[in-house]
Amino acid sequence: MTLPPPVPPERRVWCNRTLNLRAIRAVGYDMDYTLVHYRTREWERAAFEQALGPLARRGWPVGSLVFDPASVIQGLAFDLERGNLVKATRFGYVIRAHHGTRPLTFDELRASYASTFVDLHDPRWQFMNTLFSLSEANLFAQLVDLLDAGKLPETLGYRDLHRVLGMALDEAHNLSELKARIMADPDRFVELDPDLPLTLLDQKTAGKKLLLITNSDWGYTRAMMSYAFDRYLSAGTTWRELFDLVIVESRKPAFFSGRQAVYRVTDEEAGLLRPARGPLEHGHVYVGGDAQLVESSLGLSGAEILYLGDHLFGDVHVSKEMLRWRTGLILREIESEIIAMEKARGIDAELRELMAQKTTIDARLAHLRLVRQRAQHRYGPAPAAGADNLEASIRSVNEESQELDSRISPLAKASGEMGNPTWGPLMRAGNDKSLFARQVERYADIYTSRVSNFLAQTPFAYLRAARGSLPHDDTGRYEP
Ligand SMILES: [Mg+2]
Repeated sequence: MTLPPPVPPERRVWCNRTLNLRAIRAVGYDMDYTLVHYRTREWERAAFEQALGPLARRGWPVGSLVFDPASVIQGLAFDLERGNLVKATRFGYVIRAHHGTRPLTFDELRASYASTFVDLHDPRWQFMNTLFSLSEANLFAQLVDLLDAGKLPETLGYRDLHRVLGMALDEAHNLSELKARIMADPDRFVELDPDLPLTLLDQKTAGKKLLLITNSDWGYTRAMMSYAFDRYLSAGTTWRELFDLVIVESRKPAFFSGRQAVYRVTDEEAGLLRPARGPLEHGHVYVGGDAQLVESSLGLSGAEILYLGDHLFGDVHVSKEMLRWRTGLILREIESEIIAMEKARGIDAELRELMAQKTTIDARLAHLRLVRQRAQHRYGPAPAAGADNLEASIRSVNEESQELDSRISPLAKASGEMGNPTWGPLMRAGNDKSLFARQVERYADIYTSRVSNFLAQTPFAYLRAARGSLPHDDTGRYEP
């Protein structure tokens, strides 16, 4: 018996908190960007264009706005006070910012954020939780430019601007037009994953209950799930047989935090509804309901349910915080980022080596300066060398340090641009973890680029958390 070939790094399941899949009795799935992956550029471009309609009807001159998908990444925050998009470290320190579409200079950044940190509890900040926020961020930046140029026919602050934009996007998302466009041409919008149905079939056969919990409506859910799954299942079987419960229009995050009315879909073809009372019955489709009803209907507690979704707040944060469900974040962009990281391993190793040299040289320089200070002020132990020698040593070590800087700086720049030339990697901010990474480690027990990565893991895997790293783990580094 041979084991399957090793999984490439970008397709692995990463673990913040140890998770034994054998102890999981039910796996809940979000649909959009989780079970059904959209080609982000196509989907977000369509949403962007659709939102221009309501804005144009307000008399806003949005005809020339163009979707630029490379200009933003998930995990940034809107600063509604200043009209900026910012990237922050795990502690909330802003390391990069754009005002509208223009990057802030180093001095502007310092003037704006030296005494401010991003606190997501403060309504000043709006966090970009999901891929759906790419069109929003892109529109916001371009609208800030229009507002600053005095081209909008209303007097608005940046906060009002964001609110109007939110309404336009909601209208676009709710409009059956956008969904109709996608349902009419799914080949253009949906990226199929042939490994997905077998992944779920393995879990189901291993005795796990499978749940679909989506905010999308029944008509759209049915069309998308059927498109993504049915072609890979054996004849006569559809995606419906994979799931023990299907819940549409779930209104997450409210689904996880409160009680909601529930309706049963009595005619799946026509989408007819009837009010229902619990418990939810196997094999049916429901509209609404809530997570507590799911738990009681299945007779399971939070720790026995794993919920997988792409929305850091609506899927993962709330389910973890309110109900202690086990959580997994589906993060497709991590794939290209890990591939880029693997390619840049040489650069990273060189950078680490140069930084180690720099640490040693800086320590020598600091020591020499202290010796000079003591000699000048005539206190402490007498210096071993004469004053001339000391000055020469300081100059030479200083030159060495500057020479190292000139080698480090292009490498650090290349490392900081990984993933996205403007904003850099999703999970890192400079040398630190990003604010996004902090949210992921806090709320997602595991994260991975796509659901089908569980195929190689099997339903029986024991996923172990990596040993956390602390500054004092690396005790060799600071020795002069
Ligand atoms: Mg989703």
